[in-house]
Amino acid sequence: MGSQSIDQLRERVRGPVVTPDDGADVYDEARTVYNAMIDRRPAAVVRCAHAGDVMAAVDFARVNALDLAVRGGGHSVPGFGTCDGGVVADLSAMRGVRVDPASRTARAEGGATWGDFNAATHAFGLATTGGIISTTGVGGLTLGGGIGHLSRGLGLSCDNLLSADVVTADGRLVVASEREHEDLYWALRGGGGNFGTVTSFEFRLGSVKDIYGGPILYELESAGAVLRAYRDFIADAPEELGAFPAFQIAPPLPFIPEDRHGEPFILIVACWAGPPEEGERALRPLRDVAPVVAEMLGPMPYPALNSAFDGLVPPGLQHYWKANFVTELTDDAIEAHLLHGPRVPTVNSTVHIYPINGACHRVAPDATAFAYRDASFATVIAGMWPDPADNEANTAWVRDYYEATAPHSEEGGYVNFMASDDQSRIRANYKGNYDRLVDVKRTYDPDNLFHLNQNIKP
Ligand code: FAD
Repeated sequence: MGSQSIDQLRERVRGPVVTPDDGADVYDEARTVYNAMIDRRPAAVVRCAHAGDVMAAVDFARVNALDLAVRGGGHSVPGFGTCDGGVVADLSAMRGVRVDPASRTARAEGGATWGDFNAATHAFGLATTGGIISTTGVGGLTLGGGIGHLSRGLGLSCDNLLSADVVTADGRLVVASEREHEDLYWALRGGGGNFGTVTSFEFRLGSVKDIYGGPILYELESAGAVLRAYRDFIADAPEELGAFPAFQIAPPLPFIPEDRHGEPFILIVACWAGPPEEGERALRPLRDVAPVVAEMLGPMPYPALNSAFDGLVPPGLQHYWKANFVTELTDDAIEAHLLHGPRVPTVNSTVHIYPINGACHRVAPDATAFAYRDASFATVIAGMWPDPADNEANTAWVRDYYEATAPHSEEGGYVNFMASDDQSRIRANYKGNYDRLVDVKRTYDPDNLFHLNQNIKP
C-alpha cells in the first residue's frame, strides 16, 4: 500500500481540506457533529464540492489505511459522521436538489437535508417520505430506511429511492438502480452507510402540497386511553394519515396554556396529506378519544410541519437513543409506556411510536434490505438534553424505558434510531436479510472501509 500526503489530497479536490493546522475555530467547526456528546478529532475533514472530491477522500483514506467517516446531515446519534485520527468525507456542502415535475422525480445531492429537499419539491406540489425534522440529512435517513409523516401513504424513504450514484470503497463511482448494480441498489435501501458514499439520490415523488395537521396534547391521565385508541385506529386508518403518539414536556408556546408549560403530556402529532378540507373529519376519531388540553391543528404547507419541531432539537444537545420494532402494541406494552413515558426528563427528550404499516407493508421483506415489513410500529426513545452534568440520569431514563418495553417488542430495531452500544443487535435488525447484506458487503467493501455505521461486517 502506498501513501498520500494532505498536500496531494488538496491538489486533487476542489473543496477545502480542514486539518488541526487550520486553527481551532476552523477545525472545531469542521469536526463538530450534532450530538454534543461526540468529541472526535479527525486528521482531515474533506469538505466535498462534488462526486470527484468524494472519490478523492475515499481513495485517501484507503491508501493511507485511515478510518473513513461519511457525513451527510450529521445527525447520527452515535456520531458516525466523524472519527478520531481518520478522514471525514463531509458532504454537507453538496445540497443541491433538482426536481423534474414531468417525471415526478427529484435528485438530491448526498449532503442535502430534508429542509432543502422539501422546499424544492413543495414548489411543484410534490414530496416524498422524509424525516420529521428539517435539519436531518437525506443521506443517512434514506440509507437506513426513512420513517416520517408520509410513510403510511408513500412508504419508507428508501422505498421511493429510484437510483443512487455511489462511490464504492475502491474509489469508483457506480450507479445503483433496478437495472444496474441491482445487488447494491437492494442493499442501499435500508442497509445504512455500509456499502459506499452516495453522492446523489434519485427519488419518486407523490402529490403532497398543503397538509392538515399538527400536535394535539392530552392529559397524562388519558395516556392509556389515547394509546389504545390510537393503536386500534391507525391499523386501518386512511393511508393519507400519518399520526404518531409521543410523550413530551410542553414547551413555552402560545397555543399551550401558560400555566401548563413545562408539564409532561401525551401527544398525537398528525399529518393528513389528503385534501386539507377533509383533514378535520379525518382526525376526529383521534381528537375525540380524550379531553384535549391544547392543539395546533390546521392546514399548512407540508414543509411547515416538517420544520415545526426543529426548535426543540437544536444542534449541540447531548443524545442517547434506543429503538425497537413492534408488531403488536399490546396492553402490556402500553402499561410499560405508561410507567416510563410520563417521566420524560427534558423538553428536548421524547418517545415516538411511529406507524410503519400501509404502504410500508406492501413491500416484501426481502425486496429491500429493510426487513421488518410485518412490524406495525418503530419506537424510538430519544433522550436529548443540554447539560452534560445530566448524562447519567438521562441515559438511565432511556435504558430503563427500553428494558421495560423490549419484552413487548421485536428483537431488532430501526438502525437509524440506535446508539453506539447497539452494534450487537445488527443481525436482529436485518433478520432474514442479514446474510445477503454480508454478501453484498463482500462484493463492494471487502475490507470494511465503510465501518463507521451500524456495521455489517464482510
Ligand atoms: P450523518 O451523521 O451525516 O450520517 C449518518 C450515517 O449515514 C453515517 O453512517 C454516514 O456514513 C451515513 N451517511 C450519511 N450520508 C451518506 C451518504 N450520502 N452516503 C453514504 N452514507 C451516508 N430518522 C427517521 O427515519 N425519521 C425521522 O423522522 C428522524 N428524525 C430525526 C430527528 C433528529 C433530531 C435526529 C437526530 C435523527 C432523526 N432520525 C430520523 C434519525 C436519522 O435518520 C439518523 O440519525 C440518520 O443517520 C441521519 O442522517 P444524516 O445524514 O443526518 O447523518
